[in-house]
Amino acid sequence: MSEKRILIYGVVQGVGFRPTVYRIARALGLKGYVRNNGSNVEVVIDKDHELFIETLKKELPPLAKLDHIEVHDLKKSLATREFVIKESKEGRRDAPIPPDTAMCDDCLREMLDRSDRRYMYPFTNCTNCGARFSVIADMPYDRPNTSMKEFKLCKDCLAEYKDPANRRFHAQTISCWKEGLGYSLFDKKGKVIKCDDPIKEFARRTDDGAIGVVKGWGGMHISCILDRIPAMREWYRRPSKPFAVMVRDLEVAQRFAILDEFSEQLLTSPARPITIVPRREDVPGLDGISPGLGNIGIYLPYGGVHHLLFEHLEADALVMTSANPAGEPMIIDNKESFSLGLDMYLLHNRMIINRVDDSVLIPFEGRRFFIRKSRGYTPLYLPVRYKQIVLSVGPERNVNASISKAGRVYTSQYIGHSYKYHVMEFLEHGTRYLMRLLGIKKLDAVAMDMHPQYPTRAFAKRMAEEFDAPLFEVQHHHAHATSLMLDNGIDKKIACISVDGTGYGPDGTIWGGEILVNDYIGMDRVGTLQAIPLLGGDAAIRDPRRMVFAIREQLNLGNELYPDREASVLKKMMKGSIMTTSLGRVLDALSCWLGIGCARSYDGEPAMRLETFLSQGKPSLESNFKVDIQGSDPAIIQTLPMFKKLDNLLCLHGQHKADLALSFVSALMKAMVGIAAQGAKDTGTKYIGLTGGVSYNLPIVRIVSEEVKKTGMTLLLHDQVPNGDGGISIGQNVNVGERMSNER
Ligand SMILES: [Zn+2]
Ligand SMILES: [Zn+2]
Repeated sequence: MSEKRILIYGVVQGVGFRPTVYRIARALGLKGYVRNNGSNVEVVIDKDHELFIETLKKELPPLAKLDHIEVHDLKKSLATREFVIKESKEGRRDAPIPPDTAMCDDCLREMLDRSDRRYMYPFTNCTNCGARFSVIADMPYDRPNTSMKEFKLCKDCLAEYKDPANRRFHAQTISCWKEGLGYSLFDKKGKVIKCDDPIKEFARRTDDGAIGVVKGWGGMHISCILDRIPAMREWYRRPSKPFAVMVRDLEVAQRFAILDEFSEQLLTSPARPITIVPRREDVPGLDGISPGLGNIGIYLPYGGVHHLLFEHLEADALVMTSANPAGEPMIIDNKESFSLGLDMYLLHNRMIINRVDDSVLIPFEGRRFFIRKSRGYTPLYLPVRYKQIVLSVGPERNVNASISKAGRVYTSQYIGHSYKYHVMEFLEHGTRYLMRLLGIKKLDAVAMDMHPQYPTRAFAKRMAEEFDAPLFEVQHHHAHATSLMLDNGIDKKIACISVDGTGYGPDGTIWGGEILVNDYIGMDRVGTLQAIPLLGGDAAIRDPRRMVFAIREQLNLGNELYPDREASVLKKMMKGSIMTTSLGRVLDALSCWLGIGCARSYDGEPAMRLETFLSQGKPSLESNFKVDIQGSDPAIIQTLPMFKKLDNLLCLHGQHKADLALSFVSALMKAMVGIAAQGAKDTGTKYIGLTGGVSYNLPIVRIVSEEVKKTGMTLLLHDQVPNGDGGISIGQNVNVGERMSNER
């Protein structure tokens, strides 16, 4: 029988897939129909299915992604006379929804064309571009299931929607000036500012120095010109945290930063991530954006409103940072935004269904080190081997949720740092949204971090209770390592250098400088760093001087940092203190010891400032740091003698801080690779992985990469899963999913 029913799986809804199928079927003279099912697109045709599939693969719409195609014989004969698009059917609901995608060139051209009916219309979009994840409330992806449902299509838009030859054929979120969707400008008090063009007026006031809020697709930004950064820092109480900067175009980006081909590719990709790249030193005024750092986070306009702002602005660059009160989720509600106390508010009247923060990444030799994977990427998925439905909720900071179903693990958008109530609320919202979209009504397991004090555990326990599912703990650094395995598609044992600031160890100490030999399910800690007292726990994380104090005390070097009274209190804390093997803390201590950075006004500041020095230094003093390793299983790298050496060298070479820093770090990292290589050899694997928050530090990645090369092993780095704690929920998921499927 030549009549076939073809089921197509992948990112195939909301991307102009049905119109493409329609066009091809018509061109080939086929009869039948196409329709969205919950989890796939169904095509029924009367003949030539091979030619049809071949043509479809060649002419896929830009946002579509094919997973697999099933072809079945049709039992009943077709009755249609021509090819048609049928109404969507509720099927199984696990069709992945597409991420928000930057305005395409065609839409941009129309928006800037005086003769076009969408001239200067900021919500111009088509099947190839625009907001998706942030506006979709439910599947299947049809207008009534989006935040566009209250804006009734006008006659002209409806004609485009119905015309198979049009780029907007069956585009669910289109509109024009006539639907009632638009921007208004509000003043400090939330009162409307009367003007002909709110975007133009906002741009004019911005050029004059006003600080304002711009509402976009999945959130709001606070924006100002670069000259106003000092005022912005004062208002935001962020003395030195780097700000993301949106620039007019690639040319301006090149003026600000040193870009290679890969960085340019990322900057101009449909996801438009904030891309952290080396900053040019000779451009005045850029130091205020990222004080003390050698890099800068830039991105290009992605929504219509951003393009229009730059049409009107004299400035070539704007600070564009998420509008969130300290530690809270980004604001998405118009009324709530007025509480920010800024000069003006450029807001539209469409509801934000899903909050989605900008993605942030660091390019490294063709790989993407995601700091935050959200807008432009969420909610894509990775394939896994198990079929169980596992919910995993991440650690404490940078959390998100991951849920597996039918051999895929889906990850929510970036949620935030879980110690705030509203962040936990957002985590629950993001989790339940994903579950609804995927049609998940039961859970086979829930995974959480081992740290007894992480707030995400309460949520995990509640979900486990509600769905009567078993609850599992996953060790933090093991989760990093399994996330790295999945990222690289490796399912056998690896040796893994899992290094970051904080993670709870099964022995009750704080880990963070770990060398593991692990697979998805089990781990062996083959190496670690000498434990150092973490005086006052979190207090020592906030104040790296405490690390220096503890190290100096143990080395009998005397106190140089604290007044006597404080010192005697700290001294008393030494004995009973919790211990840490964290590499992040060692780097903090090194940074502070060398006078590079003792203050910590944002997460990771001392280590980030240290990175700038590392990238400028030469390892000329490395031979001075003979690394002592004691014991086995785990082998323990003695960091205290290294600090003693550092203290001696500082007297002689104090003017060469960068060289000292790099020499110290280089010696330490080579020792870690040495232990990992031995572990790999003993296990018979050729892989050495590098993961965890420290693996964002490019000079460290380069040292490890060089050293692994010498061993003849293969280095595993991240590309799809965040290196840091944004990857933990994925690692937890894989660990528990594999454990469950192994038990059967
Ligand atoms: Zn478009
Ligand atoms: Zn219209």
